[in-house]
Amino acid sequence: MRADPKPPVRAPRTPKPLKRSVKPIGKRKKKRVTVYKTPRCVYETPTGRRTCKKPQQEIERCLSHAKLYLDQLRRPLIVKDYCEINHRDDSWVGTPFPCGGALQDNHGFPRGIVRTRWAIWNGFSGCSAVNRWAFSNKHMWNVYLVRVWGSEYASRANLSVSGSKPVYESVLASLRGDPIQSIRDNLADAVEGRSFNPQGVKITNTTFSASLMRKSS
Ligand SMILES: [Zn+2]
Ligand SMILES: [Zn+2]
Repeated sequence: MRADPKPPVRAPRTPKPLKRSVKPIGKRKKKRVTVYKTPRCVYETPTGRRTCKKPQQEIERCLSHAKLYLDQLRRPLIVKDYCEINHRDDSWVGTPFPCGGALQDNHGFPRGIVRTRWAIWNGFSGCSAVNRWAFSNKHMWNVYLVRVWGSEYASRANLSVSGSKPVYESVLASLRGDPIQSIRDNLADAVEGRSFNPQGVKITNTTFSASLMRKSS
């Protein structure tokens, strides 16, 4: 019952000829493969590609990727599923505020200080709201550190300004080793000695974190 005529059969496609250089073999340009005299940074992207062309400097990586790698190893040792910094009630060193944002590896002394960057005692599992607060309230954050660390504060502060530079291999070994886990747990117990309200972890005030976002940008 079809009224329209059958469409004409398409002619089979002729395959395109492969692109080949017409130059004689001796004169063709070779694809340049860079051969480095020293091994390169072993940093891998999340998809497993090695993209860094810098020479190895520390733990088989360039300096910035070595730092990144150690940060990544340290993170699961610090970050728990709740905010351990109780900034939610009146026991806080400043005006209390609710938790907001994702949980992060919050540093006691700033992350920029390499000497104490990967020290386990220098890490807190805290929400991004308190992280931002600490950044803009440095003095009060230190008051908190004194409170949490007690008599350790002075020696740790000393270490952060005049301690020896970190030996990356040892930091790597300690972050990989199991004994560190128990140290972390002991520290966590000390930190959690204060009253802790797990309900407070819920983000109750989204406008608060939104205003923080604006402030930071
Ligand atoms: Zn690198
Ligand atoms: Zn929090």
